[in-house]
Amino acid sequence: MSLVPFVFHNSKSGKKETFRPKDETNVTIYSCGPTVYNFAHIGNIRSFLFVDVLRRALLLGGYKLNQSMNITDIDDKIINESIKRKISVEEFTKPWTEAFFKDLETLHVQKLEHYPKATESIEDMVGLVEKLQSNGLVYEKDGNLYFSIQKFSRYGELSKIDVSGMKSGVRYDADEYEKDDVRDFVLWKNQKTDEEKCWHTRIGNGRPGWHLECSAMIRKVYGSGVDIHTGGIDLLFPHHENEVAQSLGAYPEEEFVGTWLHCEHLLVDGEKMSKSKGNFYTLRDIFEKGFDPNSIRYHLISAHYRSKLNFSLNKLVESKIAMDRIQNTIYRVLEAGNLWDHVPEGFENWDFTVPELQNINLEFINSLADDLNVPKALASVFELVRVVNQYLDAKDNAVDISFLGESIRLFYKINEIFAVFQFKKEIQTLEGISEDWILEQIELRKIAKQNKDFSTADRIRKELEEKGILLADTKEGRTTWKKIQ
Ligand code: AMP
Ligand code: ZN
Repeated sequence: MSLVPFVFHNSKSGKKETFRPKDETNVTIYSCGPTVYNFAHIGNIRSFLFVDVLRRALLLGGYKLNQSMNITDIDDKIINESIKRKISVEEFTKPWTEAFFKDLETLHVQKLEHYPKATESIEDMVGLVEKLQSNGLVYEKDGNLYFSIQKFSRYGELSKIDVSGMKSGVRYDADEYEKDDVRDFVLWKNQKTDEEKCWHTRIGNGRPGWHLECSAMIRKVYGSGVDIHTGGIDLLFPHHENEVAQSLGAYPEEEFVGTWLHCEHLLVDGEKMSKSKGNFYTLRDIFEKGFDPNSIRYHLISAHYRSKLNFSLNKLVESKIAMDRIQNTIYRVLEAGNLWDHVPEGFENWDFTVPELQNINLEFINSLADDLNVPKALASVFELVRVVNQYLDAKDNAVDISFLGESIRLFYKINEIFAVFQFKKEIQTLEGISEDWILEQIELRKIAKQNKDFSTADRIRKELEEKGILLADTKEGRTTWKKIQ
């Protein structure tokens, strides 16, 4: 299969650039992952879903990937929380790390090749600090080690931060920073109280600063830099600027990152969703409101990653309706062509023979290759929905299996990115509930609606939802059901 050429907006140049990995059979991608001290909120999850779309789009484009996301399992918040609870850092972070992976699984996020943990990479961090020391970029104060940014002339190149007002020797000790305030940052913190988690190393007894973790883990996994580095836009400065300073400060002759991609924020009422502001939803909050995982996945990935997305439950409902429109068309095609449960092989590389489908296929993949333009790709999905529905409306009697077969393959291909659509007849039953009973309820609801007894119809729908069954009404007047995951 020939490679699809991609274009990405590189934060380093501020421009769209043709993507040129060093080796397209081993594209290296590193993403800043979660700090495991609580449930992720759906803002964090937006940035993880962005990584999943990036992965799925490049795979569809024919690239072979070697991808990592780190787990920050040591930082100020983690230390403070574990001390408060009188448990070890490991005991404290374990359930949150598990919750993170569970969330990814629930949202059909593909597994990456590596998930390096900060606490398992301490030796790599020590080695990096030693290299920086030998390059004259480190100084000590009160037992802590700091990076001297005045000694690194390229500081500010990535984030375009103004370093002119920078005061020499002014330092930040904490892992959290004032925005745009340029100071020397801590590489290694010495142990202040006996309770604090501490490693006994060649550079002292203490623990790493947050920025050091990512630079060291990239080197640990890849031996050098990466083709793509991603993170939320809030990480551009100082976190990523500091990663560049550490990695290029230690290895000035190497390229650290080819392409920097930054995902915009999920907002609530115009403000960044964040733990500290308290304006956040976790996945559990969303499910408690009756939404299924597919709806939230679809909603969060359907906006362009470089656009802010203002979150509201109403918008989530709108997304769900749009998603159901696509799903109902898929069911219609499967039904018309009796194509249920038939998984086409090699659909990723399928050449379409029907000109309309050929065009939609090209539009879809080209939109993704254009800096992951999912909204544009979705427009071509809705074009497919329109074309297929028109075809089915016009040809109810004479069904052309090759058209339907190709349409389904295209939907399968589209689902390689979205990962929310179903292609199987829903035969699963829940504990204590038979499919016959569900179908009977659907029939009763239909009769209630025909009698304009909408309160009974609503009651039946609610009762089913309470039992974990979600109903969807198709345009053709059919009602389908599925299990809420
Ligand atoms: P954290 O667990 O706080 O280290 O954050 C994990 C990832 O979520 C980082 O890439 C952040 O930039 C990203 N992130 C945090 N808040 C938001 C938000 N409101 N919208 C999108 N991404 C976010
Ligand atoms: Zn990072």
